[in-house]
Amino acid sequence: MTQPKIAIFKLSSCAGCQLEVLNLEPYLLQLAGVLDISYFVMAKRDNAPGPYDIGFVEGAVTCGEEIAKLKRARKDCKVLVALGSCACYGGIPSMKNWEPQREVEKRVYEDLSAIESTKAFGIDQYVPVDAYLKGCPVSKEELVNFIKSTLLGMRPYLRPHSVCVECKLGENVCVFLSHREPCMGPVTTAGCGALCPARGKACDGCRGPANDPNPVSLAEAFKELGLHRPDIIRRFRKYAGATLEFEKGVEAL
Ligand code: SF4
Ligand code: SF4
Ligand code: SF4
Repeated sequence: MTQPKIAIFKLSSCAGCQLEVLNLEPYLLQLAGVLDISYFVMAKRDNAPGPYDIGFVEGAVTCGEEIAKLKRARKDCKVLVALGSCACYGGIPSMKNWEPQREVEKRVYEDLSAIESTKAFGIDQYVPVDAYLKGCPVSKEELVNFIKSTLLGMRPYLRPHSVCVECKLGENVCVFLSHREPCMGPVTTAGCGALCPARGKACDGCRGPANDPNPVSLAEAFKELGLHRPDIIRRFRKYAGATLEFEKGVEAL
């Protein structure tokens, strides 16, 4: 049987999602006879050119060179997957989208002559995407389930509901109701096992919008908690501010 060829590409990112792939090592070793990891620059020296069966793209698109790289990846891959919230929505790099571009660049680089960065967006701004693995970083369990389902020719189960559902199933104390913490769980996609509320912390919204969220109502609830407008805006724009759903939370203020 021919082994499916896997490729992992990196755009603008902290490489944390690729590290999560490396952290799957015991599982990847089990699959070594079934998968061919053909292209993974962070993990191996010899990388084969496409075509590939599945391509995972980590990172947001923030310059023309990355648009070209992404379009090549799309051409080379039968299935293209956005790996992590940077690739899904622009993620952390997209926090810069609401400030003058040149000002942001000046804060980072002394010499701007070779810098031509653009606003940061998820990869579906430029190419069709077949699946989204959300999270900052991506959830290892979701990644394993995605690989298994795809190898078996099954549709992977990616949760559409909010973190609150997982939080209730985990019987966690609600930090919003009990401790007046501004929790993004009601509007954020589940799949992390309500990781932060389970440890007594408010959800930060790192997995981006759940299906059919109500950001307007959440923004109102944050106001009632006494949060100021800039604090609420920061919450909605930290990982997925480029999405229509989270932008509605900002527009409501
Ligand atoms: S989603 Fe988070 S962990 Fe993954 S590359 Fe982006 S910033 Fe890093
Ligand atoms: S702690 Fe947050 S995620 Fe959990 S139920 Fe309360 S609002 Fe929802
Ligand atoms: S609880 Fe919220 S911030 Fe924490 S990992 Fe899950 S989605 Fe991300």
